Amino acid sequence: MTRDNPYDNPFERYSYKSPLIERLRAQDGNLVSGRVTVRTARSFGFCWGVDRAVAMVQDAFDEYPGRQIWLLDQIIHNPRVNSDFKTLGVKFVRGPFADADEDGAPGADDVAVIPAFSATVEDTDWLRGIGCTIVDTTCPWVIKPHKRTLNYLRDGFTTIIHGLYEHEETAASASLIASKGGKYLVVADREQAQWVCDVIEQPLDAAELLSQLPDGARSPDFDCDRDLAQVGTINQTTMLASETREIERMLKQSMAVRFGADNVGEHFRELNTICGATQDNQDAVTALVDQDALDLMIVVGGHDSSNTKNLTRVGRGHFPSYHVDGPMAIRPDEIRHRCSETGEFESTRDWLPAGEITIGFTAGASTPDTLLGETITRVLEVAGAPMDVVVSS
Ligand code: SF4
Repeated sequence: MTRDNPYDNPFERYSYKSPLIERLRAQDGNLVSGRVTVRTARSFGFCWGVDRAVAMVQDAFDEYPGRQIWLLDQIIHNPRVNSDFKTLGVKFVRGPFADADEDGAPGADDVAVIPAFSATVEDTDWLRGIGCTIVDTTCPWVIKPHKRTLNYLRDGFTTIIHGLYEHEETAASASLIASKGGKYLVVADREQAQWVCDVIEQPLDAAELLSQLPDGARSPDFDCDRDLAQVGTINQTTMLASETREIERMLKQSMAVRFGADNVGEHFRELNTICGATQDNQDAVTALVDQDALDLMIVVGGHDSSNTKNLTRVGRGHFPSYHVDGPMAIRPDEIRHRCSETGEFESTRDWLPAGEITIGFTAGASTPDTLLGETITRVLEVAGAPMDVVVSS
């Protein structure tokens, strides 16, 4: 199947803009509608890297007219954006948007897009072998940890990645390290980092302790004595920055226990590779939470979006904080959301308090403004707030 550029107006194609969100931005993130006060974080939604990746796919329709465009998998972790591309004729090699009856692979005359998260070395080599045109939308922020890990490798250090081993970005980092003969471990949180710390400090129990990590979270031939003598950290760009710093502190401390405080520099290196956009969104939601004036918070983003999950975690412990994928999750008596701690899908009944309430909203880096706007509108609707009179506080 081939198609020409499907966008009628090239100046509107990057939009995903929402009049409500534009209005909120113009009013410092504050609106009052009836009994509901809406507050948004000062920074949220599409990051620069996502904007760029989406625009590069859109531009590919112009640059390669009549040629089939393929995505390796989701371009970003948002179902709305991916299904829009699918509707426009883009095919997906794998993932939730791949069709069972698709041909399954690009041909030499096709165009293949590497997503913003990057791709494994194996996938990149596969595409090169096919001979198709490759459009690489890898975000420059993702390239930073790749460069750092190559430095670690050159100096004989094992890379410890704070990330999710099944996430495309971390899988790409692990693949790069393995392809160069290096070693890696992936830790998802403090608990897993503690297992590694225990191994560093008590190498006799190493094999048993490390076996708690999932298979995909370590190099296949990992040797604890050899591969934990010198370690350097990187992180998936969308992890919770405060957790990354804590994990770095823990690992450094364990190296001091094993090798002595004066020798830590020879055995431990660190580099916080959280991207600027993720940091801005996390700082903004932290500031929103610190105001301590919210009754609940709703975080909008794809359920497999790592940065959205981490935004949700900021609110937990302060007030109910719900990670939803859009307005369809909102009902008057029930909200369907994904728990940021367990990853389980949950339904919470009677989630909307009576009386005057203040609800905080934010959105992950791959969430279009349109989806956040529709979600806020839906919440106002189920709260019985007047939809035609939305005024600034
Ligand atoms: S979240 Fe950060 S690393 Fe990911 S695409 Fe956006 S700017 Fe790039």
